[in-house]
Amino acid sequence: MRDFSQDHRWLSINTATVRQQHGRDWPLLDILDACARLEIRAVSPWRDQVHAAGLKETARTIKAHGLELSGYCRGGMFTTADDAGFRAALDDNRRAVDEACELGAPCLVLVVGGLPGALQGRAAHKDIGAARQQVTDGIAALLPYAVERRMPLAIEPLHPMFAADRACINTMEQALDVCDLLDPQRSGALGVAVDVFHTWWDPKLEAQIARAGRERLLAFHVCDWRIETRDLLNDRGMMGDGVIDLRRIRGWVEAQGFDGHSEVEIFSTRDWWQRDGETTLRTCIERHRACV
Ligand code: ZN
Repeated sequence: MRDFSQDHRWLSINTATVRQQHGRDWPLLDILDACARLEIRAVSPWRDQVHAAGLKETARTIKAHGLELSGYCRGGMFTTADDAGFRAALDDNRRAVDEACELGAPCLVLVVGGLPGALQGRAAHKDIGAARQQVTDGIAALLPYAVERRMPLAIEPLHPMFAADRACINTMEQALDVCDLLDPQRSGALGVAVDVFHTWWDPKLEAQIARAGRERLLAFHVCDWRIETRDLLNDRGMMGDGVIDLRRIRGWVEAQGFDGHSEVEIFSTRDWWQRDGETTLRTCIERHRACV
């Protein structure tokens, strides 16, 4: 297993971690400058932040700083109430693939969608089986374009508490079933993003990481699970402030040959987004060395 205690070569910052400071938006280009100042080598930006900063300008800044990417967040949201919506979702995903290519990302992360309409407050139906089938159909439809553009797709299973509104793929096992179905030859075009926040509780996690193997382990996201989680979405803990056995899970991933970045992804309305962004980045570096 790699020793992270001496440096932060393998730290990546998911830019949502510092999307706000002092409770206000921190512009992406400023985030990238701060990362470069702190010798952070890799980032994973979110689409909305990139759109606000401009795709070309973001790509130029990433290049100027010599930053690598550990992923691009995110595509997905394949579940829709009608065919027109489904086609629009596919178009949007193809644009996300194009953007990921322009930015030099190693993969496009997919948050696949829950029951159609639920994220907007009203589910169009209650058939989660149908939603899951639509997700499989959506990834199947997107995959040829992703292969053509050589942009791997990383399905991110989300914790079951998000099954209604964000993702009806909730375990590594489910995600890998889709991978096996759509890419049985394990070409590397389709895999998973393992986020400890979503997967740490899963009794099958170790076995499913082994099942994924090197070809399907495309990204590794870290944060921590606070015992008293005050908000399902936006109360992730800093590494070391919760109950996730981070080093053990990293050991499982690395045992398969994963040698990519540990990407810190923390959504934290009440805590980290209220602090100074550069302080948060420094804390990420410290905790990456001490706890990941
Ligand atoms: Zn994640």
